[in-house]
Amino acid sequence: MTELLFNDDAYLKSCEAQVSGINERGGIVLDRTVFYATSGGQPGDNGKLVLADGREVIIATTVKGDAPGEIVHVPAPEQELPQPGESITAVIDWERRLKLMKMHTACHLVTVACPYPITGASVGEETSRVDFDIPQPPTKEELTAVLNEMIAAGHPVTTKWISEAELDANPGLVKSKNVRPPRGTGRVRLVLIGEDGALDSQPCGGTHVASTSEIGKLVVTKIENKGRENRRIRFAFS
Ligand SMILES: [Zn+2]
Repeated sequence: MTELLFNDDAYLKSCEAQVSGINERGGIVLDRTVFYATSGGQPGDNGKLVLADGREVIIATTVKGDAPGEIVHVPAPEQELPQPGESITAVIDWERRLKLMKMHTACHLVTVACPYPITGASVGEETSRVDFDIPQPPTKEELTAVLNEMIAAGHPVTTKWISEAELDANPGLVKSKNVRPPRGTGRVRLVLIGEDGALDSQPCGGTHVASTSEIGKLVVTKIENKGRENRRIRFAFS
């Protein structure tokens, strides 16, 4: 299992780590990492691993491994791989990750502005979308105004671990219609927006900014009809 340092501090840009192994597809597994693996609509990080002699291994993306809790760093083509046991420094592409953190946090705010079951989501560097099972969506203008109001208010974004039993006792925490939070470790991470989650709390393993004000201004660019009662809300930095 990889120690996931971004769970407790999404602002870590690098960390020291040891190569625990190379999988059969050439993916690099570390004992700990700051690289987020693709999941929950958020793409995996890219970046580099810096070896002790200064050589660099470019990491194209990061995915979840076959074993639970394992993270695989996928090298770009034609990289010379490190050896198991080697000490490295893992460095993410911070500029890209920060954009994804802002966009991911914005997705949570969209679910506050639209309190309906979520049917899908995709976080991008410049634009993102959230899909809802919603008969009558608000207008783009209404939604843009509500989002920017929540952003400007500078609500704190924090995390809290709860047990799977606590989650079962509060089924309303899960807003996604089709995706259940990952289980099996006994605990689930909640992401809270506002004091004690006054605005929102939901299980999420992604990376977020610490205050909604860090997101900056957004604009809802499109509300698309994706079948009966299914609406896709697209937004971008403005
Ligand atoms: Zn999240």
